[in-house]
Amino acid sequence: MPRLFGSNGVRGVVNQELTIELASGIAAAAGYVLGREMAVGRDGRTSSPMIRDAVVAALLSVGCNVHDMGVLPTPVLQYLIRHLGLDGGIMVTASHNPPEFNGVKVEAGDGAEVSKETEERIEELYYRGEPRPVPWDQVGMETDYDGVEAYIDAVLSQVDADAIREKGYKVALDTGNGVATLTAPQVASRLGCSVYTVNAEIDGTFPGRGSEPTPENLGALKEIMKATGAHMGVGFDGDGDRSIVIDENGVAVWGDKTLSLVADWYMETHPGATVVTSVSTSAGLEKVVEARGGRVHWEKVGSVLLSRAMVELGAPIGGEENGGIMYGPHLPARDGTMAMALLLHVMAERGRPLSELIAEQPIGAKGRDRIPCPNELKEELLRRLPEVADAPEVNTMDGVKLSWPDGRWVMVRPSGTEPIARIYAEAETEEKLVALIDEYKEKADELIKSLKKKG
Ligand code: MG
Repeated sequence: MPRLFGSNGVRGVVNQELTIELASGIAAAAGYVLGREMAVGRDGRTSSPMIRDAVVAALLSVGCNVHDMGVLPTPVLQYLIRHLGLDGGIMVTASHNPPEFNGVKVEAGDGAEVSKETEERIEELYYRGEPRPVPWDQVGMETDYDGVEAYIDAVLSQVDADAIREKGYKVALDTGNGVATLTAPQVASRLGCSVYTVNAEIDGTFPGRGSEPTPENLGALKEIMKATGAHMGVGFDGDGDRSIVIDENGVAVWGDKTLSLVADWYMETHPGATVVTSVSTSAGLEKVVEARGGRVHWEKVGSVLLSRAMVELGAPIGGEENGGIMYGPHLPARDGTMAMALLLHVMAERGRPLSELIAEQPIGAKGRDRIPCPNELKEELLRRLPEVADAPEVNTMDGVKLSWPDGRWVMVRPSGTEPIARIYAEAETEEKLVALIDEYKEKADELIKSLKKKG
């Protein structure tokens, strides 16, 4: 039984891997497992209406009532599920993947993606060809619901809107032709910001800079920031849950640093809180959190694991190094628009520019790379790597992470889908970082070569 769920839902190329049969099979099983009242939403991809129709038909056929939320960002659907007390929902999206992809993310009633255990139950039912359709008089009802305004109000209620308005910030937003276009500019504008946008038409072919924001493809955003003197820039991914922040000098800020800043700000008034993050995040976060009497709960890489841990532990803050802040009082899931509003709040409250606030975070230079690694050698690579390293601390929570007392660390983590191993690292300076990554690329490469010879 091959796994259908990847790290964020079921995804694939439309009409090849991700067919209407697969989407409807997953939807029917999800409705059966989660309950009767199900929300459905979709992103702006050209194939999303087709997949949405398959999902809705499947849910109705197994007796679920469908609350169709229309086109919206993933975190808006998640918020509405929790806010309206629904049993769960399905978001039709392939997040940041190229336009030929689509997918379904299955959401639980608590506003986060379902757990691995629930995914497995859904897969099991799917492979058994269950559930069966209900008799005609038990078929579900469909209603439309437009909840974007309620969501925007909810985001605004989490920050001191008056304090932000007083500052009259200029904010530049690159929504990447994705659905963050429906929320981020509106929230910034209601916070009294002058808003400048790029790629702000929803277009499922993602003609602007593609659906994944990276420090390299946000050139147009940086140009606008320069021309307008913007205080902050934000680039969003295709379904609006992840974002990359640019400071007022045009420098892209790693997710670790914004997470550290938000955690520090929150814990000023809520000391002792638990912060959830993945093992690829900077150890510097721990310094910030412990200084405020709290603790960091480390998880394997993957936003769903972080969300589930937040729910389980009641943790108010979570986040990933790739730019997904999770603010529990609002939603235990990544939300790019909420992250933007929070950063504006922290800037206003502390009355200082973003670059200064970020520079205070005790987080070094971070980078990542990858090397080819045959699937059959991945396990052996992880087992042998600590033997050729001189690291006093070895952590095997996810791949293998080697740490030194001066704050340097390297993590090697094989891809679950491709014949490669990813290398993540942190060091005090950019120079030391490059040297560290090169050293471990070479070490891993040599190990793989010797394993190949032996094999
Ligand atoms: Mg996404």
